[in-house]
Amino acid sequence: MNEKWSRRDVMKGLSALPLAVPFLRWIDAPKAMAAVAEGQEAGGSPPYELPPLPYPYDALEPYIDQETLKIHHTKHHAGYVKGLNAALEKLEEARKNDDYSTIKYWSRQLAFNGSGHVLHTLYWQNMSADGGEPAGPLAEAIQRDFGSADAFLKQFAAATGAVEGSGWGALAYEPMAGKLMVLQVEKHQDLTVWGATPLLICDVWEHAYYLKYQNRRKDYIDGFLKIVNWNVVSERFKAVAG
Ligand code: MN
Repeated sequence: MNEKWSRRDVMKGLSALPLAVPFLRWIDAPKAMAAVAEGQEAGGSPPYELPPLPYPYDALEPYIDQETLKIHHTKHHAGYVKGLNAALEKLEEARKNDDYSTIKYWSRQLAFNGSGHVLHTLYWQNMSADGGEPAGPLAEAIQRDFGSADAFLKQFAAATGAVEGSGWGALAYEPMAGKLMVLQVEKHQDLTVWGATPLLICDVWEHAYYLKYQNRRKDYIDGFLKIVNWNVVSERFKAVAG
């Protein structure tokens, strides 16, 4: 009997208990705790902090004026950082009290503020008065995936200009096919925390469970949690977190 099957039997035996019990047992595993401790040491845990700009506020004049940059960084970005820390605190409270009555609100706050923090940080870093031009492997990938640097710049400007309302334009790398893509980011909270790597995914579109469970989505999720391949999830975690 391999490890996975014996663990599944343990999970089955616990299925009569509240869902949180097998989950807590797993989370208490020494390895997982060590990983959490490591994340804290590396600054991966709250509170998040507003990173300083990599240049003075007037460095991007005349394209971005000093006043805009200062307000944007010290008010807007700072607001996201504050909101992100607040969401993480409230989620910790929810876990402590085993009270998930406001989970929807705080999950949205986490996504909205987390994405705001990540995207602003990337935005500051990917600007400079003297940033050169695409070179090396990036230049080759742009050539391969967009046809030419000029075509890429035109597509990026068109897509970013056509973002409806608030949002972002993004050049992104899709690792499954190893392909560059230009994306429009509208409502960045709808796309969870940008830059976060998915480790465990549960499909809750109705086609994934409706034949068997109809409207009982929770029953499907309880079942899903009994058949998770934690070996794969652990490998994914190791690949991104080391
Ligand atoms: Mn902004």
